[in-house]
Amino acid sequence: MRAAVCHAFGKPLRIENVDIDAPGPGEIAVDVAACAICHSDIIFADGGWGGALPAIYGHEAAGVVSKVGKGVEEFKAGDHVVVTLIRACGHCSSCNDGHLVTCSTTFYRDTHTPLRNEHGQPLTQGLRTAAFAEHVVVDASQAVTIPKEMNLDVASLLACGVITGVGAAVNTAQVRSGATVAVLGTGGVGLNVIQACALSAARAIIAIDVVPSKLGTARRFGATHGLLGSDPELKQKLRELTDGRGADYVFVTVGAKAAFVQSLGLVARSGSLVLVGMPPDGMTIDIDPGFIAQDNLRVLGSKMGDSRIKVDIPKLVALYDAGRLKLDELITERFSLDQINDAMTKARSGEAVRNVIMMR
Ligand SMILES: [Zn+2]
Ligand SMILES: [Zn+2]
Repeated sequence: MRAAVCHAFGKPLRIENVDIDAPGPGEIAVDVAACAICHSDIIFADGGWGGALPAIYGHEAAGVVSKVGKGVEEFKAGDHVVVTLIRACGHCSSCNDGHLVTCSTTFYRDTHTPLRNEHGQPLTQGLRTAAFAEHVVVDASQAVTIPKEMNLDVASLLACGVITGVGAAVNTAQVRSGATVAVLGTGGVGLNVIQACALSAARAIIAIDVVPSKLGTARRFGATHGLLGSDPELKQKLRELTDGRGADYVFVTVGAKAAFVQSLGLVARSGSLVLVGMPPDGMTIDIDPGFIAQDNLRVLGSKMGDSRIKVDIPKLVALYDAGRLKLDELITERFSLDQINDAMTKARSGEAVRNVIMMR
């Protein structure tokens, strides 16, 4: 098959012929139809999180099941699926507790990649998926069946950006109706926090970004106000919009240090700070713990929206079908696999919400 391979951090990916294993026990093979570019793919490809090279990234995918491994009963060839990086055993203490995103089981594929190049050299299965490729082999826990009528490019977005954003609001923060919300960063994840807060009937949803044009997009997803992250009076303006209190929920959906630092000053007393964005390794911020206790704040981490994909993704498909969840509007541009470096460069600039690689 053809795949986009990273040989050196920060250098263009190379399209190469790659061999992929047949699915083993508990696994499925999927013909990838579409894979969106997530900011995590860019951080990996740029070396921000390390990892062994050569590697194939891409983890926001949808396609058609081509083959199932031994013992797989949930899927059959021809099923349309969303493929995610969330691999869960279903029986460790985290899984039993409903937190599949922190499953503690080590899988065969965590140590045995299904991918090799033409010289037999193993290639890292980046983000447990390696979907910048024509085919993937993943654990059956990583996929969810979707209706065949749904466009696969649109469906691919459900694999990461949408569940991460919606899940942060609905699963992690459990935003109350009538609440006030501030969302720092209005990229793929931030817009989904915003639309989930709108569905949860938040009273004020204040989008904050450093790119003015993105505030208009945020309003189309349900933001009631937009503020510039670079505005020196940001804190004061946010207080004016929230009865002088600050926001009941503040979401940080980007990995930029400035956003984390800024977020602490925007939360109302007894409010929640929800950290969703993933900074590059090594970034730290100073926090005054006395202020967290004194203001009775909750600081919540949210990994992949704490999603249980087999429960959450069908609900999101139903909301999309009912016209209540925007997905088509998240796609900025479509590219072929050969154009992936172009698509990555445009995604790096922060102007694109989601660029999608179409495999066929
Ligand atoms: Zn992602
Ligand atoms: Zn588990």
